[in-house]
Amino acid sequence: MNKRILRLIVVITVLVLVAILIRTLQGPTLVSTDRGYRQVMGTFAHIIAVAPNKKTADDCVEAGFEKLRYIDQMMSDYDPNSELSRLNRQGFPGPVKVSQELFDVFLASVNYSEKTNGAFDITIGPVVDLWRKTEDTAERPGKEALDAAQKKVGYEKLTLDPNARTVRFAIAGMKLDLGGIAKGYAVDLAVKAMLQAGAAGGMVDVGGDIRCFGAATRGRKVWTIGLEDPATEGNVMMILKLNDMAVATSGDYRRFVLIDGRKFSHIINPATSTSAAQLSSVTIIAPTAIDADALATALSVMGTAKGLQLIGSTPRTEAILISPAPQSIQTRTSGAKKYIKNK
Ligand code: ADP
Ligand code: MG
Repeated sequence: MNKRILRLIVVITVLVLVAILIRTLQGPTLVSTDRGYRQVMGTFAHIIAVAPNKKTADDCVEAGFEKLRYIDQMMSDYDPNSELSRLNRQGFPGPVKVSQELFDVFLASVNYSEKTNGAFDITIGPVVDLWRKTEDTAERPGKEALDAAQKKVGYEKLTLDPNARTVRFAIAGMKLDLGGIAKGYAVDLAVKAMLQAGAAGGMVDVGGDIRCFGAATRGRKVWTIGLEDPATEGNVMMILKLNDMAVATSGDYRRFVLIDGRKFSHIINPATSTSAAQLSSVTIIAPTAIDADALATALSVMGTAKGLQLIGSTPRTEAILISPAPQSIQTRTSGAKKYIKNK
């Protein structure tokens, strides 16, 4: 064969091999799917999936939403047919056998109650109900009604039997409220479902309780998450760079009632049965969304000093706190900085 042709063949072969090598080192090309916001769990949810192909990415988004709907049906307190509503009717005298998911959330909840000295407490239901009524009447609940409701609150009045997987209330009229933890739990389960469906990465956001994992969109390695400014709704206060982490924000800026010109948050201090007013916004960054959700609610009750102490002793967990306007003083744990973009 002609020497020149032979040389050309060698050169082309080498080039092709180099191209294949580069492609292999880069890994498979990934596509991302965003099928928009959907209403679930009393708020808006948003899921983005990153996968080797469009079909898998779409399937991952659907698998995530399906899990959110499943948990919503189980844990909604607005739906009288949810498993939680049934338990609330039958927990006293009980015992009532519950699903593994519900039992897992109860176990986690009691754990947070113990860790936070009762600042986080899902037995807060009867008191929350009284404050919820003020959304219509714009009047504070009466002292007598609050005292009566307070007697039905206390996580030590909840008996969980892990062997039988049953729940029992110690007294009549108790009511469990998972508003401070169910969304985070659902986010974690949605992430798990997406991984099982073949996701290489993704992000699940249920009303500001967010978890992201794996490959990000547009070939990036980290997810960027914008946090809203509590003082001026709609404005981005800071941007976080996260991966394989969750973030949740609790605050009085979105859900509150005005009584005599005072803001009452939907988060209740179980020790006083009144609305938690110490902080305007609490953002927690943690490995799981259930942790971030429950701790954000807890710190709203605990305030800056006790809250920072708790987060300081919780591994891989950071807090960004904002005091009420007009001061709006920002305080954060030292480790939070590494997640904040351009700071
Ligand atoms: P959001 O639901 O706005 O994201 P949170 O995660 O902080 O905010 O949850 C607030 C909800 O948690 C309340 O609406 C109520 O249902 C419930 N809740 C209120 N106070 C407490 C508390 N001290 N411990 C646990 N749950 C609470
Ligand atoms: Mg919460």
